[in-house]
Amino acid sequence: MLESAQGIIKKTAKNLRLDSKTISRLLKPKHIHKFTLKVKMDDGKTKSFKAWRVQHNNALGPYKGGIRFHPDSSQEEVQALATLMTIKCAVAGIPFGGGKGAVAVDPKKLTEVEIERLSRAYAAAVAPYIGSKVDVPAPDVNTNPKIMSWMVDEFIKTNSNKFQPIPTNFNYLRATFTGKPVENGGSLGRTEATGRGGVIVLKALLEKARDQIFESALPPKRGYPNLTIAVQGFGNVGYYFAKLAEKEEFRIVAVSDSKGGVYVPSGLNVETTLKCKKEKGYLAGCYCKGSVCDVRYGRPISNDELLELPVDILVPAALENVINSKNMKKIKARIIVEMANGPITEEAYEYLSKKGIIIVPDVLANSGGVTVSYLEWYQNMHNEKWSETKVNKKLKELMEKAFIAIWQRSVTKKIPLKQAAFEEAIEKLSLRAKHLMAKQSH
Ligand code: NAD
Repeated sequence: MLESAQGIIKKTAKNLRLDSKTISRLLKPKHIHKFTLKVKMDDGKTKSFKAWRVQHNNALGPYKGGIRFHPDSSQEEVQALATLMTIKCAVAGIPFGGGKGAVAVDPKKLTEVEIERLSRAYAAAVAPYIGSKVDVPAPDVNTNPKIMSWMVDEFIKTNSNKFQPIPTNFNYLRATFTGKPVENGGSLGRTEATGRGGVIVLKALLEKARDQIFESALPPKRGYPNLTIAVQGFGNVGYYFAKLAEKEEFRIVAVSDSKGGVYVPSGLNVETTLKCKKEKGYLAGCYCKGSVCDVRYGRPISNDELLELPVDILVPAALENVINSKNMKKIKARIIVEMANGPITEEAYEYLSKKGIIIVPDVLANSGGVTVSYLEWYQNMHNEKWSETKVNKKLKELMEKAFIAIWQRSVTKKIPLKQAAFEEAIEKLSLRAKHLMAKQSH
């Protein structure tokens, strides 16, 4: 992952004719903090866990990026993810740089109390290196708003000497973490934000390119009932993407989770499908239209089949590398919206792009989450609390602005959206770095 992230940065920087010093600054993280966390287990024994916080680039603002708890986490992976956060924040046009954190742990093997001790130990270890104007972590794989609350609490305790007297705007300290529960300084609209952002970008794309993409099957002016969508993954991102796309009158014909999926060619009802899945524990049999689920409406499909369905829009929203050399020739969709991180391998990406399939890159498509994290940080810093309507409106403005810049570059230079996104980000970062250096030398 690190090689691939650095590869595309090097290629883009070369296209932009950047000098070697600027390129190396884009590749090398500013700081890599390594820790060994010692945590007391419920049986009284102490266990050690490896942990990291990588601060990649802060040219555009405080480092920003999640903390994941995963047994396979490694320094290299954290560095790759931090690098991609730098690009994502620059693409999204928000004043943050890139960072990422991880603890090598399988949280399923810990009790809730042990997870709390581990979270607090991590927060205490990173406390000297983070802050609302320095580095702003958030939830990621296997971490959540509750964990952010423990971390905020521990961060404030650890730094309590520094914060005497406690500032009148207490939220200013809470702003060090985003993705918090709403009652503890979190923002309304954060849960749906990544899926919502993806739908905003898809609509903006269709507005620009509907004639070009669907010349023979022009959808009507309002809504998209003729356009079919298959979504892989029915978790936070996949579910909200499907739900909000359905609201915009797209036809959702397939969804799946780790156990497989359902195909309802005439269009399924997302809410009823979720309810059915919750009742059964799996999706098979949930062929739901309106409030009724019936075997006549659809059939079960595997995750591989879902990717190869004859749909207009394919939305991988679960895992990385699911579209690869094995299945790339069988993909029939005209548009792929990368809602998961890195769902298409480099080889498959080259093949599909050459074939004229439009790929909305992950750094743009799934940046709605970090964009609302920025809005949470902004509200905390200004001691404000926005309505969900206001958050959604701001998200739409920012996502549409980010899309238009990338679209225009893509059209002008006749390059794919992914290349345009990386160029847009790297240009912003290098201009900012030059500006900062000029300021320092004065
Ligand atoms: P989640 O854990 O809520 O959901 C993941 C979904 O994928 C679940 O439905 C799960 O059953 C399904 N899944 C797991 N293994 C699968 C398999 N082998 N085949 C098909 N489906 C499988 O996670 P999420 O938050 O929805 O994240 C999904 C992806 O989006 C990840 O790549 C994540 O990094 C990325 N992402 C998430 C956010 C966010 O705000 N949550 C932001 C940016 C990117």
